[in-house]
Amino acid sequence: MKADPSAQRRLLDLAAVDAELSRAEHRRRTLPEQAAVEEAERTLRAAQDAVVVAQTALSDLDRDVAKLDREVEQVRTRETRDQQLLANGSVSAKQASDLQHELASLERRRAVLEEEQLEVMERQEAAGVNLKHETEAHDAARTALADAVERRDGVLGDIDVVEVRRGEERTALLQELPEDLVALYEKLRARGGAGAGELVGNRCGACRLEMDRSELREIQGAAPDDVVRCENCGAIVVRTGK
Ligand SMILES: [Zn+2]
Repeated sequence: MKADPSAQRRLLDLAAVDAELSRAEHRRRTLPEQAAVEEAERTLRAAQDAVVVAQTALSDLDRDVAKLDREVEQVRTRETRDQQLLANGSVSAKQASDLQHELASLERRRAVLEEEQLEVMERQEAAGVNLKHETEAHDAARTALADAVERRDGVLGDIDVVEVRRGEERTALLQELPEDLVALYEKLRARGGAGAGELVGNRCGACRLEMDRSELREIQGAAPDDVVRCENCGAIVVRTGK
């Protein structure tokens, strides 16, 4: 294949643009800012779970407190009724004695319930404090995630700018370069190589390997408009006189 030496040199500009686009794409895939977002998402999920656990613990204790309140209220109602029966003097001596026994047993029962009530209320208070802490941790995790997303989106925006700008340069270069040269270059790139590299000294700019003397002689001896390739990586080797 033949191509004007100036077109071959412009091909190096295309290779440079493509190298920058590859770097941008690689950067997009391996952003530490993205890893930070994922970490913040994990932290937020864990904080959400902790809030649910704390809420469940508190509502269980709320239910226990309400149940004890009802039980204490029932005992009090019974005590009031017994005291009224005793007070209005309409009961027999036997009934009065039974009522007094019952009142004594109700009082013991109430004492037990009230002690239990105190203990459960202490646990309820601790659960309330815990829920408050977990809620605060959850709020902090949400803020941290929002910050991480903002930082990542900022970096992605910078990458977008690079990609748009280099993409425009690429389009312009493709319009001015000979079609067959571009087709060869694209085919070589599709195989995973750089496509084209500058000959610097005895080194191929695409694979960075040094050429042996006979290969170098052959390349240097070729006509300036010959499109020559690196024996090692297959890339188009562009001679710029460096
Ligand atoms: Zn090479």
